[in-house]
Amino acid sequence: MLAGKQQRRLHRGTPGPALLTVLSGPSAVGKSTVVSRLRDECPQIWQSVSVTTRPPRSGERDGREYYFVSEPEFDEMAGRGDLLESARYVGYLYGTPRAPVEEHLARGIPALLEIDVAGARQVRAAVPDALLVFLAPPSWAELERRLQGRNTETAQTIARRLEVARAELDAEHEFDITLVNTSVGDVCRQLVALISAQGADAENGTARQGTLGNSELEGTRWQRLRP
Ligand code: 5GP
Repeated sequence: MLAGKQQRRLHRGTPGPALLTVLSGPSAVGKSTVVSRLRDECPQIWQSVSVTTRPPRSGERDGREYYFVSEPEFDEMAGRGDLLESARYVGYLYGTPRAPVEEHLARGIPALLEIDVAGARQVRAAVPDALLVFLAPPSWAELERRLQGRNTETAQTIARRLEVARAELDAEHEFDITLVNTSVGDVCRQLVALISAQGADAENGTARQGTLGNSELEGTRWQRLRP
């Protein structure tokens, strides 16, 4: 059974196309692992590639993980209204190019954004029908372990990211649904089920109520990290 909050939020009952899904949650919770698994296994779900002023980490490729741009380039895009949302995260700018999202949605292709909480709020305002998914860690200790285990960041950056993560966890209640990242495979299956349910709603013009009786979601663990 779906937990009460999921049902309540999904009962907003707005009919019409709702194919935009946002995956958010604190840094190091595993969002990018989930989206990279989905990219390989579910190419029918289009994934937005963000622009960022952060320098590439080793192994990251321009145009795959991000478009890496300078701050003036970013500002120019933002000034032209080319970004659907944007946010500054621990010293760097991140944003979602608007045109590709709109083009895919117009063609009925489900689109997925992996962005921070501040960006998710902007998407909520710009696209009220978007489904906002919060990816939560199994525990705070696990999140700390994952962030500290990353050797791509300095101690100072890790400390700052942990601070931001605390605030991001407090925003969980603003989201439509929480998936707890206990297993990448489970989260991917649950996300695909959610996105398919949205697509079915959009196609049928039906309200969201009752569309999530999907067996993939039956086992969705619902937990709040904070009282
Ligand atoms: P990272 O530097 O670890 O790749 O990303 C830092 C944070 O920025 C993560 O929480 C990630 O989800 C978020 N992020 C990535 N792209 C975007 C974007 O286009 N917009 C916003 N608002 N956040 C983003």
